[in-house]
Amino acid sequence: MDITPRDRDALRAKYRAERDKRIRPDGNEQYLEPRGRFAHFLDDPYIAREEREPRFDEVTVALIGGGFGGLVTGARLKQAGIDDIRIIEGGGDVGGAWYWNRYPGAMCDTAAMVYLPLLEETGHMPTLKYTYAPEIFGHARRIATQFGLYENALFSTEVTALVWNPDLHRWIITTDRGDEIRAKFVTMGTGPLHRPKLPGIPGIETFGGHCFHTSRWDYTYTGGDPSGIPLANLHDKRVGIIGTGATAVQCIPALGRDSGELFVFQRTPSSIDIRNNHEIDPIEFATFEPGWQQEWLTNFATLQTGGYAEKDLVKDGWTDIALRIRDRIVAAMSQGAEFTPQVAMRAFEDSDDDKMNEIRDRVDAVVEDPTTAAALKPWYRQLCKRPCFHDEYLDAFNSPTVHLIDTDGRGVERIDESGVWVGGKHYALDCLIFASGFEVGTDYARRSGFETRGRDAVTLSSAWNDGMRSLHGIHVHGFPNAFIVGFTQAANLISNVTHNLVEAGTTIAAIIAHAQRVDAEEVEVTADAEMAWISQFNGETGGFLGNADCTPGYYNNEGKPAGPKERFNGSGYPAGPVAYFRYIEEWRTNGKFEGLDFRG
Ligand code: NDP
Repeated sequence: MDITPRDRDALRAKYRAERDKRIRPDGNEQYLEPRGRFAHFLDDPYIAREEREPRFDEVTVALIGGGFGGLVTGARLKQAGIDDIRIIEGGGDVGGAWYWNRYPGAMCDTAAMVYLPLLEETGHMPTLKYTYAPEIFGHARRIATQFGLYENALFSTEVTALVWNPDLHRWIITTDRGDEIRAKFVTMGTGPLHRPKLPGIPGIETFGGHCFHTSRWDYTYTGGDPSGIPLANLHDKRVGIIGTGATAVQCIPALGRDSGELFVFQRTPSSIDIRNNHEIDPIEFATFEPGWQQEWLTNFATLQTGGYAEKDLVKDGWTDIALRIRDRIVAAMSQGAEFTPQVAMRAFEDSDDDKMNEIRDRVDAVVEDPTTAAALKPWYRQLCKRPCFHDEYLDAFNSPTVHLIDTDGRGVERIDESGVWVGGKHYALDCLIFASGFEVGTDYARRSGFETRGRDAVTLSSAWNDGMRSLHGIHVHGFPNAFIVGFTQAANLISNVTHNLVEAGTTIAAIIAHAQRVDAEEVEVTADAEMAWISQFNGETGGFLGNADCTPGYYNNEGKPAGPKERFNGSGYPAGPVAYFRYIEEWRTNGKFEGLDFRG
């Protein structure tokens, strides 16, 4: 549909009004940390913690976190000939987010052919375009097994502190098991979505029914299992779920199918695009030439970030957004327009309006009750919040036992011993599930769960008091021999997080192998190199996806204006992810390791 200026103005006004309804002065502070009387929300429901003797020993590399960040770094280290490695992980196994998130219906939102790391190295063919969580968890285990990363690993072990000892040139890692482990190098793959958060709803502590966070799914209570077996114990239960983000969208179809009654408490609807999942064809897969995954990764990153490629190998909702924008720009230019930021912005806005109109039309086409359909329509730009792709979510609301309780942007009013209040009405519940997400905008130490103390006993939190600073998102001046496995201040390709992690892991392994080769005791980024790198991230951010026009969420600092600190904490390489990947490959292979000081 072509959007006339009049429609566009009306749309902008509607977006703005919906956003204003949701702006809260407390921003990130509205959420509760699961500690103190809420600490049990972090308990591991999957593997019982076994007592063991504390360890007092030394390793060459300690990998903090056994998620994909730690695993791909470990795999690359082993390939580089560094064998003395230890994973230290709070969960009872490797997998990270995919260890914890076992809720029914969990699957990847980015195509498995690019999301699952090291497919060629492991020889694994994803079964589906979007694979379910058990297969992803299995893939994490496959990497750990193949590269010998289970040997020497410590699971169900929370790091409590990392302290640099300058005399020994070693990191001292202490844990909640009483361990005191020395490591020459530490890598921190503690994940951006690591710590669950709880909604700060008055009375949350008074609820007397059963209650858990989606990242600690209690199958003992619900019945069923992550493979999709029905949640049989819920058949006579009144179940409530708070939150309608990417997690809730995936688990609501199963909850709706199996609960006696399901009450979905919604503050902001997600945008639900078509998923169109299908099996991967083994015959076609067998024809792929060596190097195919790198080609797919580059193709996806290129198209998803507005670049040009002959073919769209992944063909999904992410590349669709970008291709629509590109086609509009090409159309404008073929009619004589010059390529200017204004033309690009207009193409972006028009494509987005089209896409969101399609998404709202889809709600009408699927959801039978008009009031429910109206409440499920998202009124914001697609990339203001994490886009969702699902073919059963909207349909779940056609079941007579599934009730959408829309809070009109205000959130749940309060919780009491027997249920939840919205708009002055009480909903009695046996079970309340929090699909309220993870800490994103808070301090690194709070998110990782431990403090890191570098040279001169300076903490990472204080070093980053005014925002993150690093070289390549990996090295921090004052923290020798420590490496962050992430994406901020690097490619920042959030549509495919694991791509960033593989690049970071490969880079870190190359540096550690070099340090060992030249017998360096320490490697540290120079203050100048760090300063030069971060000077790129101090520009303006926002555009029309900035806070002014976006419904609040963790993509935009919960609607609070982004100052320098937020810019440093959320920036990527200005020339974009593909340029970063090219840059970092050249940097790590030219033998110079510019910006790093190898000494001792
Ligand atoms: P989100 O932070 O995206 O969603 C939290 C939800 O809780 C939102 O709907 C929020 O509403 C709602 N909420 C918070 N407080 C209240 C309240 N007081 N009353 C009512 N509702 C409330 O968490 P998710 O776990 O859904 O997703 C987190 C991220 O994890 C995703 O964005 C994605 O990056 C990742 N993920 C990836 C998946 C994949 O790749 N397959 C699957 C699932 C998650 P509001 O929107 O108004 O703030």
